[in-house]
Amino acid sequence: MPLTKLRILTDRLTGAERRFSLRTLVALSSLPLFGVVAAFGLAPDTNPLDITPQTITEAITLPTLIGSGSEGSFERESLIQSGDTLSIALSRLKIDDLEIQRLLATEAVRQMASSIRSGRRIQATTTQDGQLLTIRFDRGDAPALMINRQGDGFVASESEDVLESRVVMRSGRILSSLYGATDSAGIPDKIANQLAETFSTSMDFREDLRRGDTFSVIYTVSYRNGEPIAAGKLLAAEFVNAGKPHRAILYRDPFGREDYYTPEGESLKRGFLRSPLEFSRVTSSFSNSRKHPVYGFHRAHTGVDFGAPTGTRVKATGDATVAFAGRRGGYGNLVILRHSNGFETYYAHLSAFASGIRAGRPVSQGQVIAYVGSTGASTGPHLHYEIRIAGKPQNPMAIKLPGSPPLVAEQRARFLEQTADWSDKLALLRGTNLAALD
Ligand SMILES: [Zn+2]
Repeated sequence: MPLTKLRILTDRLTGAERRFSLRTLVALSSLPLFGVVAAFGLAPDTNPLDITPQTITEAITLPTLIGSGSEGSFERESLIQSGDTLSIALSRLKIDDLEIQRLLATEAVRQMASSIRSGRRIQATTTQDGQLLTIRFDRGDAPALMINRQGDGFVASESEDVLESRVVMRSGRILSSLYGATDSAGIPDKIANQLAETFSTSMDFREDLRRGDTFSVIYTVSYRNGEPIAAGKLLAAEFVNAGKPHRAILYRDPFGREDYYTPEGESLKRGFLRSPLEFSRVTSSFSNSRKHPVYGFHRAHTGVDFGAPTGTRVKATGDATVAFAGRRGGYGNLVILRHSNGFETYYAHLSAFASGIRAGRPVSQGQVIAYVGSTGASTGPHLHYEIRIAGKPQNPMAIKLPGSPPLVAEQRARFLEQTADWSDKLALLRGTNLAALD
C-alpha cells in the first residue's frame, strides 16, 4: 500500500508514557487530516478489516509537521500542554505573531481560548511563510471548532460531530509484568487482555514471560471529536518471548466469523477451553489413586472435579457431536461429547441437560450443554469433567490440548491476500518502534 502522506500523530501522553521515554508509537489513520471526517462509523459491527490505512503516523516530538498540502501549505498539529495559553499553543504550530494577534481579536477564538485544556489536539494549516489558513480545535465534549481564513479575518464554524475508528500501532518491552508494560506503552487494558488471550494457546503469560520480551500490537480505537472514547479490537500482534516470535492476525471469513491466525494461516483458537465452567475451582484433581468419597476405597480419579452450585451452566469445551446424554451409574446424569482426533469429554453428576442436547447433535465450543448437580455417586454439587483420548482418561489440567484446524486451501489464499498488509505492518513495527526501544 502506498503511504500517501507521512503524518506525525501526537497522541495523548499519560504520565506513565512520559516516564517510559523509550516508547514510540506509530499510528495508522485512514482519515483525511482536516475538515469533516466522514469515517467509517463506529457501529459495533464495523469491520475493522475494512479499514484501509492511507497515512502513516509516528509520534516523535511536538509540534509536528503532519504533511504538506496541495498548494504548498503545511499542516501541523500539537497537543495542548498543561500551562499552555492559546497563543503559546498557536506559536508552537509556527503561526506568526501577527496572525496570532489577529486571531485573538476574533470572538470565536476567544471562545476557543476558554475551552483550552491539556491533552486536546489543535491542528493548523499555514502557508509556507506562516500565514494561517485554517485551525481545527478538538473540544472533546463538543464537535471540533473550525476557524477559516476569510479575507483579512477569520470565521468560525463547528464541524460535524465526528466519530472515527483509528488504527493504532504500539510496541513495548517487558520489564516486570505484561500489564506493567502495556500500561507504560499506553495500551488499553482491553487490548492487553486480547493480546494475552490470543497467545494463551502458545505461551503462558504467568510462567513464560521474560524480562526483555517485546511486543507490538495493532488495534482500533474509537474516537469522538478527536477524543478516544473506547478501545476496539486487536487486529494484529507480535510477541517475542525469549527470542521466539509469536504472531497473530485477525481474519474474518466469508461468513463473518473472526478468529486469530498466524501469518501462515494456522489457527490460534483453542481447540479446547481449559474449564467447562466460567467461575469454579478445582476441588479434586486427576489422580491415579485416591480414596473415593462415596465408595470409600482407593481408585483412580479419572477426571477433575469443579465445585459449583447446582444449576451452574456447563459449557462444551470444544466443538463436538453429542455422543451420549442420559443417566449412567455413578456418573449420574452424564453428557459425553465426541471431538475430532479421538478426543472425548465427559460431564457428570449433572442436575439437568440443556434443551436440544441429544446424541447426534452438534455443539460448538462454549455452548451450554447442561447444569451442575449432584446425581450419581456424589456427595454434593460439583462437576466431574474428563478428557479421554482414544478411550483413555487424561489429566485435563496437564495435557497439551490441540488447537483448531488450519484454514482450508481456498480460505488460506483469501486469508493471505487479506492479511498481507498486517504482516507488513508488524514487520514495520519491528523495524522502527522496537529499534527505537533499544
Ligand atoms: Zn470426579
